[in-house]
Amino acid sequence: MSSNLFLPNHDFLAHTLATDKCSFEVIEQGGMRVCFRATGVLEFSPNHSVEHALVLSAGVHGNETAPIEIINNLVTAILAGHIQLQCALLVILGHPQAMRQEQRYLETNLNRLFVEFRRRSTFEPSVELTRANLLCSLVDDFLMRHGQAEKLHLDLHTAIRGSRKERFAIFPYVENRTYLQQDIQLLLAMGIEATLLMHKAGSTFSSYSGLQHGARSYTLELGRVRPFGQNDLTAYQNVYDALAAWLCEPGCLVKPDRKMEFYSVRSEVIHTGEHFKLMVAADQENFSEYLPGELVWRDLQQEYRVRERPELIVFPNPHVEVGHRAALLVQKNN
Ligand SMILES: [Zn+2]
Repeated sequence: MSSNLFLPNHDFLAHTLATDKCSFEVIEQGGMRVCFRATGVLEFSPNHSVEHALVLSAGVHGNETAPIEIINNLVTAILAGHIQLQCALLVILGHPQAMRQEQRYLETNLNRLFVEFRRRSTFEPSVELTRANLLCSLVDDFLMRHGQAEKLHLDLHTAIRGSRKERFAIFPYVENRTYLQQDIQLLLAMGIEATLLMHKAGSTFSSYSGLQHGARSYTLELGRVRPFGQNDLTAYQNVYDALAAWLCEPGCLVKPDRKMEFYSVRSEVIHTGEHFKLMVAADQENFSEYLPGELVWRDLQQEYRVRERPELIVFPNPHVEVGHRAALLVQKNN
């Protein structure tokens, strides 16, 4: 069936990189329906009723290739009948135009545009805003059609910056929301060792599905950015295996061999102006530790030093615009 869907290309990724043309025909095979919803977006619907609906996305940043290749391999396995799907599944390759150029984005960071429609409509037009509008409407449609199901969204990324925690998850802030132990077990099975609990509502893709649809949602940082074809996918075998197992048996509990570390945001570092100086090296790794008394940032009027407990820096970027977030300072939960 895959050859019909993607002809003349050999798989989902090759097709997405080659063309915006999609066959909008619904194909029935092996007890499920498959259809293209848009370029880079495939929906799988088992013919029987399902209790779980999963949005699985990668490539929201176009150069983050390993998760894109993992998702492509999962699609190939589903279409070949090697994975017997037991959930409704929306697979999204986030930014095909940027993927074709192996760029993070073309005009603006797509993963900052996923806010509710009224706010989105005030943003400057861009290639990314057009895509964000499309992806939001497809996610809205999919999750609303599966309103009774348990909804989960995993948005897969890799990072430009190194990290003391090679793989970590970000749990977006949604009021009164907690993570489920079964999700944490899935993340552990994927080799994720730390989960960062965000402190306020964000504008990422995973925030959107959590805030707008009450989905359990996570942004997953799975290692370093490499060009297409240069990822050692054997290093990601546990990610593939854990996702494949979940698709066959959603909510399955794999006994984890270790515990998740949880981190909470202690403060945001905001760029204060031309004299702002963030004390990070160009290659400073995520989760680098600052000890009590250590200087984190300063300008002419003020400085910030770590207080009694060590703090770790995440997503440092001294080059953001004035008034924007230059880093997060986090602490490990006891
Ligand atoms: Zn990313």
